[in-house]
This record gives sequence, C-alpha cells and structure tokens, in this order.
Amino acid sequence: MEAYDAIIVGAGSIGLPTSLALAEAGMRPLVLDARASLGQGAHKAAIGGVRATHGDPVKVRVGLDSLATFANWREERGDDIEWVSGGYVFVAYRERERQAFERLLREQRRLGLDIDWLDAPALLERVPDLEREGLLGGTFSPGDGHCSTLLVGQAMAAAARRAGAEFRFGEPVRELLIERGRVRGVRSERAPYETPLVINAAGAGGPALAEMAGESLEVASELHEAGITEPVAPFLEPLVVDVRPSEGSANVYCYQARTGQVIFCLTPEPPIYGEDLAETSEFLPLVAARLVRLIPRLAHVRVRRTWRGVYPMTPDGSPLLGWSGQVEGLLHATGMCGQGLMLGPGVAALIVRMARGELDPDDHDTLRAWAPARKFVGEEVLR
Ligand SMILES: Cc1cc2nc3c(=O)[nH]c(=O)nc-3n(C[C@H](O)[C@H](O)[C@H](O)COP(=O)(O)OP(=O)(O)OC[C@H]3O[C@@H](n4cnc5c(N)ncnc54)[C@H](O)[C@@H]3O)c2cc1C
Repeated sequence: MEAYDAIIVGAGSIGLPTSLALAEAGMRPLVLDARASLGQGAHKAAIGGVRATHGDPVKVRVGLDSLATFANWREERGDDIEWVSGGYVFVAYRERERQAFERLLREQRRLGLDIDWLDAPALLERVPDLEREGLLGGTFSPGDGHCSTLLVGQAMAAAARRAGAEFRFGEPVRELLIERGRVRGVRSERAPYETPLVINAAGAGGPALAEMAGESLEVASELHEAGITEPVAPFLEPLVVDVRPSEGSANVYCYQARTGQVIFCLTPEPPIYGEDLAETSEFLPLVAARLVRLIPRLAHVRVRRTWRGVYPMTPDGSPLLGWSGQVEGLLHATGMCGQGLMLGPGVAALIVRMARGELDPDDHDTLRAWAPARKFVGEEVLR
C-alpha cells in the first residue's frame, strides 16, 4: 500500500492551498479528487472575490492571513493570478445598512482591517457609476480585491507539486480505513492508501466523507448563480456589494476583472438547495435588473455566460474546521459557505499548525468558533 504523511480529500478551494501548505511544511501529501481535474467542484464557480471584510472577528483574522497570500502571490511566486487590489465597497442606500456597517467598522478596524466609511460624494469619486439617488455612502476596504479563480487554482497546484505534493483525479474516496478509533488510511475507487492524517476538504461532499467515520456534519448544498459579460474599457475598480434585499434575492455583487469583463453574482432569497447545476432562466432577468439599478451604465454591457455552483453552507454561515469527534487523525475543513476561496490560504496555514500541534491563542479561538460539532446560533451579518 502506498503511504503518505497526509491525504487530502478534495482538490478545491481548500484542498489546493492545504496541499501547498503541508508540502512546504515538509510533509508529503496526496490529494485525491473524484472529478477529472482540479477545481471542478465549487472552486471553479467562485467569481474570485477575496476580502478580509467580514462581520465575524474570527473570519477577519483568517481572512487577513489569506488576503496576504493572494495579494503577494505574483511577487513571491512569479505567477500572474490577475490579482487586483481594487478594494471592496459595501454600499448603503438605507439608514439600517449605514448603521450596521458603521457598527461593524469599529470592530473591523480594531482587528487591523484597513477600512473607512465614505460619504456619498467621496464614494462617487471612487465608483462614479453608482446609482446616486438615495446613496448614503458605503464602506471601502482598499486591501481587499479579486483574482482569477482558475489561475489561482492552477498556480497553487503547480506550487504544491513542486514542493512534493501529489494529485490523483478520478479517484473518489469510498472508505476511511480505521483501526482502534484511529485513521490508518483511505480506500479510493482505485486503491487503498496508508496515512495517519486524513483531511476532509470535500466541500459539499464533506458530510458523506464524515459519515464514513460515523459522524454527521451540517453542510447543505446551497445553489448560487453567477455570470460574466463581454470585456469593456475599465470603469469599475472595487468589488461592489449591495445588501438591500429585493424580490427573489438577498444581495448582489460585481466587479470588473483586469481583463475587462464584469463578473457578477446574486444571493437567492429564499435560498435554493439541491444538486442541479444547470443555470436557470430566472437568474439573468433578476440579476440584470438589480445590477442596472445599482450601476445604470451596465445596461449597455452584454452578458456572455452564466453558471451555477454550490455554496457548502452551514447553519450559521461559518466554516467547519476541527478534528473529528469520532476518529483520531481525521480533520474536517469543510462548510466554507460563500467564502472558501478567500479563506483557503488562512485555513491551510491553520491546518499545518494543527497537524504540528503548534496552535497559538488566536487559533484556539478560531477552532472554538468553527468547531464542527458546535451549537449553531445566529448568522454572520456579512455572510
Ligand atoms: C456562484 C458562486 C460564486 C462564488 N464566489 C466566491 C468568491 O467570490 N469568493 C469566495 O471566496 N468564494 C466564492 N464562492 C464559494 C466558493 O466557491 C466555495 O466556498 C469553495 O469553493 C468551497 O471550497 P471547498 O474546497 O470546500 O469545496 P470544493 O471547491 O467544491 O472542493 C471539494 C472537492 O472535493 C471533491 N470530493 C468530494 N467528495 C469526494 C470524495 N469522496 N472523494 C474524492 N473527492 C471528493 C470534489 O470533487 C471537489 O473537487 C462562490 C460560490 C459560487 C457557487
């Protein structure tokens, strides 16, 4: 039986940075994915937004750690992932959003986030094409940004391979090999592998993997759609989020990629659950109406393609990260909701510290907040 220091189940937004972090920490990980190539799960559906601007202090901390990886990728590793530090803008058109953002701002700043409140004239200087009527202002966090999801996935896998990680595709994991309450390996559809450490980075498949250890995880497949326009001349620098609820949706967000296309996404309300990844006829009229209301100039830009993907959603909107309660050596890193790409590198760094037993007090906080078996109460404001 081939033996590895760690087996990561899933080559997605979490498995990729984790393979890199473990390999660079001197371990020899094997990544197994059921699909034919990397990032074919939720990863390739992500639109590429990366922020540390969250409502939950733990996410801000992990988000800041991750953000540095994306922002410094080109300088440190050489590949162009089409990163742009354009910032994030959360716009407020109603008093309730203004107050909520301003309340969050104090805590976000205390945690080291570079974020400001801009009144309407200042915000319009930064995003001149925003709808002016009723605009009260918005938060602006210049360090946040966006990148190409596909390029960053490829770059992470290439760097992980150079550092000694191996990848095998078309190999669904069917069984956890367990002896006396401890993981000894996994059996994929093709072969058994020996390892003392299995990382459940299976995204929406996380509960099925946990089930193999007799454990149940609360992750639901929440369906979200996104789209991309033709490329147009630069006119929009930050990623703009509008959290005003509207018929059929909770929020809408978009940015302009460095290559000119506008990439956009909408959060359906009520949420839609399931496995059907076919894009719907309802999405485009719904999102187009919202986007044109927010940025009227978008009425003149043509949409090229839409797609649908999964948020691996937990009841409170925060990830599940921690050791299995059933089996030693099994670590769950799933339930990343709508933020797996942006949290990936920070989660990966924390997994390395867990594997080495080198946790600091902040890590203990994070693991308490994100414990897979926690009681789910409330929901993050900026989920
Ligand atoms: C439309 C849309 C837009 C989004 N935009 C953003 C964004 O801008 N920024 C952001 O941070 N996030 C975004 N997200 C969310 C993000 O895509 C997810 O949070 C993230 O991809 C989850 O990462 P993951 O590694 O947990 O899962 P995945 O990326 O799905 O990876 C899990 C992998 O595990 C494999 N797998 C599962 N079970 C098994 C098994 N038994 N054996 C072997 N392999 C298995 C799957 O094939 C899959 O490749 C978006 C999501 C959608 C749908």
